[in-house]
Amino acid sequence: MALVSMRQLLDEAAKGGYGVGAFNVNNMEQIQAIMEAARETASPVIIQASRGARSYTNDTFLWHLMQAAVELYPEIPVSLHLDHGNEPATCISAIELGFTSVMMDGSLEADGKTPASFEYNVAVTKEVVEYAHARGVTVEGELGTLGGIEDGHGSGEVHLTDPDQAVEFVEATGIDALAVAIGTSHGAYKFSKEPDGEVLKMDLIKEIHRRLPDTHLVMHGSSSVPQELVAEVNKYGGSLKPAWGVPMREIQLGIQHGVRKINVDTDSRLAITGAIRKVFVESPEKFDPRDYLKPARAAMQALVASKMRDFGQAGHADDYASLSLAEMNDRYATAAV
Ligand SMILES: [Zn+2]
Repeated sequence: MALVSMRQLLDEAAKGGYGVGAFNVNNMEQIQAIMEAARETASPVIIQASRGARSYTNDTFLWHLMQAAVELYPEIPVSLHLDHGNEPATCISAIELGFTSVMMDGSLEADGKTPASFEYNVAVTKEVVEYAHARGVTVEGELGTLGGIEDGHGSGEVHLTDPDQAVEFVEATGIDALAVAIGTSHGAYKFSKEPDGEVLKMDLIKEIHRRLPDTHLVMHGSSSVPQELVAEVNKYGGSLKPAWGVPMREIQLGIQHGVRKINVDTDSRLAITGAIRKVFVESPEKFDPRDYLKPARAAMQALVASKMRDFGQAGHADDYASLSLAEMNDRYATAAV
């Protein structure tokens, strides 16, 4: 199956009442880990690349690696999504390359750091929606800002999403999916203790979903930072500070209230790093990269497969029927009414 539009995956997820993990990639092993996990669990999947990933991997390498994924796993519906596009030009270059979904993050200015005005956010997001929808490509926008900084992206400040503004934003831009700021952060150090209702505003998700029942909600910074992965890294010479992520039960609560896309990067990084460190400590005589990249890939596959089961997307690879561009545009037209 060719790469599919993310809108279709999320529409199916809404019908089925499940969430779809969006896993970040920077190299071949990560793509392989995700695709193997998707096959193992019969899951549809979103693979996403940030600006940093595109420059690390190189667009041409990334594109051909994704073509290999599509060719080798024909039974798996896959969307290729741009994570945190910082300006329309970044989104347009991704669409030209063949991405089937883009995020225009106009919550920050093009520097990826300075919080932007609502008007700026509407203007740049709308511009990307017009370009993308004419080509059957899905658009995710963001309102409010998350804490933390990832790949140099982020203001480091949390501004929670305002439900009134969310309605205005979706109506003004026509986006398919909305990233909400409910207190999550990028990176490993999201919370200084197990998060409770004071820091993680799940009620805000419920309210936004009530007001925007047809907009797919996206949770960023949603790694759970499993304590056993942190311990594994530290056991083999790492020095991670105590870290807490978003508990799976909170993500599952979000899925009950309109969350359809769940972004995960940190947990994959932790799984990979722990596995590599273990080989380095236990087998210091080894120097073939395959000796540590194979267990790293296996560790990420196990992590991703368990998330696919927890998000509910496992077993749903067959839900998907390929839509033509014309059918996709009909869907957008209907959604806009
Ligand atoms: Zn993010």
